[in-house]
Amino acid sequence: MSHFKPAAPFETETGDPILLTPGPLTTSRSVKAAMLHDWGSRDANFVATNKAVLAQLCEIANGGEDFVTVPMQGSGTFAVEAMLTSLVPRKGKVLVLVNGAYGLRAKRILDIAARKTVVHQTAEDAPPDLKKIEAILKRTPSITHIFAVHCETTSGILNPVEEIGALAAKYGKGYLIDSMSAFGALPLDARAVHADAVAASSNKCIEGVPGLGFVICRRDVLAASQGNATTLVLDLHDQWSNFGKTGQYRFTPPTHVIVALHQALREFAAEGGVSGRGGRYRENCRILLDGMTALGFRPLLPEALQAPIIVTFHMLDDPRFDFQRFYDGLKERGFVIYPGKLTVADSFRMGCIGRIGEREMRGALDAVREMLEVMGVEAVPAQA
Ligand SMILES: *Cc1c(COP(=O)(O)O)cnc(C)c1O
Repeated sequence: MSHFKPAAPFETETGDPILLTPGPLTTSRSVKAAMLHDWGSRDANFVATNKAVLAQLCEIANGGEDFVTVPMQGSGTFAVEAMLTSLVPRKGKVLVLVNGAYGLRAKRILDIAARKTVVHQTAEDAPPDLKKIEAILKRTPSITHIFAVHCETTSGILNPVEEIGALAAKYGKGYLIDSMSAFGALPLDARAVHADAVAASSNKCIEGVPGLGFVICRRDVLAASQGNATTLVLDLHDQWSNFGKTGQYRFTPPTHVIVALHQALREFAAEGGVSGRGGRYRENCRILLDGMTALGFRPLLPEALQAPIIVTFHMLDDPRFDFQRFYDGLKERGFVIYPGKLTVADSFRMGCIGRIGEREMRGALDAVREMLEVMGVEAVPAQA
């Protein structure tokens, strides 16, 4: 075994392993350094920083004057729950499009909040069926909203949010999007897709640290949502109206997270916004797919459905391939991957997002190659 003792782990600025996960992600040193101060939540500088952050997030979705960002303390799911429970009225009914864990989670949130739902579910490797959606909308006029996940991180599949939005507009339905793992990397024009609201968070493609969710809401929809909320803390209308009155959060904001997000947004703009960031991730994804396929791994999704966010690979069909050993060996070599949570296939995932580029992706492939050697698995290029 000593023959296979790994070389020094992949070198990083912090000595921490690279996170090839769906978030939290590897962030830049400057984003982390932004947190080396303390701010009072009523401090004028902090209030101004927060305001700038919210305005920039709205711009990324091309929200213009029609939209406003309402932040929500917590992880991304807090923002999704805030969006669903604040914007869907008590008598609403939501068509929930499910092809993975995050669609199912939205359904669960709506069940708990006692909102009626109709579910259109497809397999984890299949986008929703637009014809079926239209048939459901025709047959069930009581539907008030459609909920969709932009990139379903469970598999990494890209869902057709524009086409779904066109149907929402045609049938006069509200449209709520979980764009958590795509926001900032894949273009999403809130007005063009006819969205009522788009939920995302600080710690995915914007490359901030975890702790703040946000919902980019149409102002008129938000204004009409008073009294819908089922909880105090997740009430978007109340959070928004308090900003209008005081510029401040109702409850303690994650000050460090927000200041780091401000720095992350600067770096996002310097990289060229959505096209720059998305371009780097597409390149990461291409390197990963080419390299892993050459080593014998088969991706779950065909290219046309693969978002450049996270890639699901089938486990190798070789008795010597031991996932736990593979995972631990990669970690030792400086890379954290993610187990799969698919029902359609035994799989694992590797992310393309975060402050990583070609050097990190090639380093990860070297580590994968080494682990195959360690396990005595021969690399046989996968058939398409
Ligand atoms: C990450 C993610 C979320 C939020 O997950 P949290 O663990 O609450 O941050 C929601 N939807 C999608 C599609 C995601 O990728």
